[in-house]
Amino acid sequence: MKNYDVIIVGAGPGGIFSAYELMQGSKDIKIGIFETGNCLEKRKCPIDGKTVKKCVHCNPCAIMNGFGGAGAFSDGKYNITNEFGGTLYEYIGKKRAIELMEYVDTINMKYGGEGTHLYSTANSEFKRICLQHELHLLDASVRHLGTDKNYDVLQNLYNEMKDRVDFFFNSPVKDVRILDNSQYEITASIQGKEDEQFVCDKCIISVGRSGSKWMESVCKNLDIYTSSNRVDIGVRVELPAEVFNPITDELYESKIVYMTEKYQDKVRTFCMNPKGAVVTENTNGIITVNGHSYENPELHTENTNFALLVSKHFTEPFKDSNEYGESIAKLSNMLGGGVIVQRFGDLIRGQRSTEKRINRSFITPTLSATPGDLSLVMPKRILDGIIEMIYALDKIAPGTANDDTLLYGVEVKFYNMEVQIDEHLETKHKNLFIIGDGSGVTHSLSHASASGVHVARYILENA
Ligand SMILES: Cc1cc2nc3c(=O)[nH]c(=O)nc-3n(C[C@H](O)[C@H](O)[C@H](O)COP(=O)(O)OP(=O)(O)OC[C@H]3O[C@@H](n4cnc5c(N)ncnc54)[C@H](O)[C@@H]3O)c2cc1C
Repeated sequence: MKNYDVIIVGAGPGGIFSAYELMQGSKDIKIGIFETGNCLEKRKCPIDGKTVKKCVHCNPCAIMNGFGGAGAFSDGKYNITNEFGGTLYEYIGKKRAIELMEYVDTINMKYGGEGTHLYSTANSEFKRICLQHELHLLDASVRHLGTDKNYDVLQNLYNEMKDRVDFFFNSPVKDVRILDNSQYEITASIQGKEDEQFVCDKCIISVGRSGSKWMESVCKNLDIYTSSNRVDIGVRVELPAEVFNPITDELYESKIVYMTEKYQDKVRTFCMNPKGAVVTENTNGIITVNGHSYENPELHTENTNFALLVSKHFTEPFKDSNEYGESIAKLSNMLGGGVIVQRFGDLIRGQRSTEKRINRSFITPTLSATPGDLSLVMPKRILDGIIEMIYALDKIAPGTANDDTLLYGVEVKFYNMEVQIDEHLETKHKNLFIIGDGSGVTHSLSHASASGVHVARYILENA
């Protein structure tokens, strides 16, 4: 049985940044990282748009699992803010949270991100224009690495760590047990072979969204309290890049919130990808939509995409917000075989989009989705809110409400249940830490990475 000082479960940003920081603080610390997915260069999604057009449900999904975690092929937008992306600040304080996110940014710059643009909403005239139309622009600095640079940074970080850290890829952890001497025993299936046990003094669990079901079972076995979280449901909007250029050129990503007149629900923009592409996402077999864009101008498209989301949080008597989101996504999967696309004009006229109508329009979709009718999938209240928001955005970015604007559905942001942890992100069991999106506390690259650094520093200070 192999012994480690620290075992990390999951090699997403949370796991990577904990390992990186531990390595910086101690020359001889023994670290083992267990990861369900592959190393970065072997992560390959079979969808090529030609022979394989739709998700074929690989297990594990190469987009969500492997070195770099769920964000490895993402747009690499590191938002430095406490306004969104998680509630890490509630645990560690606003100042420290920002300091750690800024620190993560310096590491990303050191390992290949240098030269990328840091956008900021500070002093933006655009904030005033938004307010004139009942739209609220949230404050943030955004480092846009781009999908290509984000990949390089991850590869460089891996190269830096690989000789100092034992990486176990294709090795999902099945069980975590507390031993009598307060150490932790981890059971993992190493490269799909027989289960093996490993022991450590300290255990950091950072399994992200894809590890949510497993995380729930660990919390149940170890009697760690969890509470339900919200789910965000909506669509991905795609339109000609020119429509949003005035906003994206200045801010790149703008998080804009709107309160609907009809229901007083909040609708917000999310994950804006100028000149980007719409992609599918597979969470535990459910196909939803997402988007990304490249830093390299040669890989730019003619379109910009962003999500419009409405949050729902169920508590009594139905508690499982994620199940609600899953059911809506399943309905779209059932009707469209995956993601559905509809022209805004068709939605407003109450007609489904067809292949012919999409082909006749002036926008070329960047994702091959099934033309259909989103009103058969989305709850009325959510769809009404999205339509209201599109008309509101049309006032600051005329053309948003054009007939040809494409809506892909559904986009669902699932959040893990919130795990009970303290200000050190430590559970009630000493030296067992739960960080990143798997804790329900973070929902973004910057917050998840910062949570890893926070825990690593605490471990080093208390060694
Ligand atoms: C397509 C896409 C685009 C995105 N774009 C952005 C963006 O631009 N900006 C942003 O801020 N956020 C973005 N996000 C969200 C961001 O990727 C996540 O918030 C972030 O990756 C969370 O980091 P994490 O380390 O907590 O978890 P993850 O990145 O999910 O990593 C967890 C890792 O744990 C592994 N794992 C799970 N269970 C086990 C187990 N039992 N044993 C071993 N390993 C396990 C998984 O395989 C995974 O690799 C995007 C997400 C997606 C899917």
